[in-house]
Amino acid sequence: GVGKAAEYGILIRNGEALQQAGNITTVVLDKTGTVTEGKPAVTTIESVRGLDENEVLLIAASLEAGSEHPLAQAVLNAATEKQLALGNVENFKAVSGQGVTGEINNQLTMLGNIKLMQSESIDVSSLKSRVSELAKLGQTPMYVARDKQLMGLIAVADPVKQDSKLAIERLHNIGIKVVMLTGDNKHTAAAVAKQVNIDEVIAEVMPQDKADKVASLQQGNEVVAMVGDGINDAPALARADVGFAIGS
Ligand code: ADP
Ligand code: MG
Repeated sequence: GVGKAAEYGILIRNGEALQQAGNITTVVLDKTGTVTEGKPAVTTIESVRGLDENEVLLIAASLEAGSEHPLAQAVLNAATEKQLALGNVENFKAVSGQGVTGEINNQLTMLGNIKLMQSESIDVSSLKSRVSELAKLGQTPMYVARDKQLMGLIAVADPVKQDSKLAIERLHNIGIKVVMLTGDNKHTAAAVAKQVNIDEVIAEVMPQDKADKVASLQQGNEVVAMVGDGINDAPALARADVGFAIGS
């Protein structure tokens, strides 16, 4: 079996993993790069107080130049398309599960989700309903701020993989429950889950907490498989009864 799997590009680490795979009752899927293609693209850029949208994009892209997140590539591609010259960033920080921050022209700038904005007490009320609208379409909205003032938002869409729905249907056919585990916004997660008939969604989970969510499913007497693609999924992959690391 191990030899046959290798022909299909599947590496099985040991016989025990293969044996245990036959006992799985719940499969937990990471969202970005697992259920979705992991090739997100910018769909929307909006500004507040009459600011230039290109300025919003410029700040976002300058920050993302230092990030390895899939969302970063989408933002950088949008800036390249508009031929924007990126700004110089000092004191860059990637905040796991939240976004990125740094100083541009000595002003603190940030790009990320609501948690990141709350950490600096930035008022996001003017864009809140717009953000939830975009999230309900399955897009990932990110806030952009400078000098503790909201500047606008950028939304990114990552289409589901063509075969995700069928793969989940096949798991259902053999009686396996399918759960999605993601750091993304709960509305975005729910919209994506609905497209592929996922049974349960656990969203807004910080990377370091993903393994604990797997453990709590195990405590409910489930034999749990975790499927993920990212470095931030590694602890959850290790915690699961069987871990499936998928790569492109
Ligand atoms: P996932 O579990 O889907 O792989 P992550 O834990 O990596 O997600 O990120 C969760 C959320 O944190 C993202 O949906 C986004 O809102 C925010 N975030 C994380 N990194 C970045 C970044 N580099 N730029 C913008 N937003 C980010
Ligand atoms: Mg991921």
